[in-house]
Amino acid sequence: MVLIAGPCSVESRQQILDIAQAVRASGAHLLRGGAFKPRTSPYSFQGLGEQGLEYLAEARAKTGLGVVTEVMAPEQVPLVSQYADMLQVGARNMQNYALLHAVGESQLPVLLKRGMSASMDELLMAAEYVLSHGNRKVVLCERGIRTFETATRNTTDINAIPVLKSLTHLPVILDPSHSTGHWEYVNAVARAAVAAGADGLIVEVHTRPQEALSDGGQSLKPERFAEMVGQVRAVAEAVGRKLLSDEALVLKEKALR
Ligand code: PEP
Ligand code: MN
Repeated sequence: MVLIAGPCSVESRQQILDIAQAVRASGAHLLRGGAFKPRTSPYSFQGLGEQGLEYLAEARAKTGLGVVTEVMAPEQVPLVSQYADMLQVGARNMQNYALLHAVGESQLPVLLKRGMSASMDELLMAAEYVLSHGNRKVVLCERGIRTFETATRNTTDINAIPVLKSLTHLPVILDPSHSTGHWEYVNAVARAAVAAGADGLIVEVHTRPQEALSDGGQSLKPERFAEMVGQVRAVAEAVGRKLLSDEALVLKEKALR
C-alpha cells in the first residue's frame, strides 16, 4: 500500500517544506500539493502556479518524496510534467476528454479522481481514455460522491473499492479527506478503506490547518497523520497487506522507468 500525503494547496516555500518533512517522517511515500487549484469559487485562492511547482520540486529534493500534483488543462501538461512524478486529474475534470487525451500521451503515472457525480462505469471509461492513448499507468481514486447527506462534505463510497478492483487490474486508492470533509473522520474512513482492500490513501495534511488557504477543516495535523499511519499499518497487516517499504518503492520506480 502507498501513502500520499501533503497539503491541499502549496501555499509557500516554508509551508510545503515543513509538511513534506513531517509526512516523510511518518512514513508517507509521495507528497501531494496543488499548484493549480480547481476552486468552486473564482474568488478563492487559485494556487501559486509554476512557483508552487518549483517549491514542490525543492521539497522532493530535500525529502526524496515523489510529487503528485494536479493538472487542470491539456496545455498545462508539459509544464506540470517538468516538476511532477504523478499527474492528478481532479474530480471536476474526470470527464475533460481533452485533458484525459493529453495525460494519456504523457509518460507519467496518472491519479484519476472519480467525479463527484460519476458512476463507477463512467470513471472506468475515463480511465479507458488515458489507457487508450498509450499511458497504462493509471491509479483510480475514490474521493466521495454527492448524496443527500449533509453531515459530511461527500459520502465515501466504500463499495467502489472492491467493485473497481474486481472490474479492473488498476490500483484503487481512497481520499478520505475529500470524501468526509472533516479531519475528525479521516482516520476512521482511512482504516475502513484499507480493510476494504484499497491499494493506498491520499490524505491532506497541514501544519497549521486553521490558516490553510484551502481545505483546512479536513486536513490532519502531522501528529494525527502519524497516528493514522500507525493504525492503518495495523489494519493492513490484519488483512494480509503491508505498507510499501522505502526499498520496495525505489525498486518499483526503477522498474517503471
Ligand atoms: C484535491 O485533491 O485537493 C482536490 C481538489 O480533489 P478533488 O478533485 O477530488 O475535489
Ligand atoms: Mn483539497
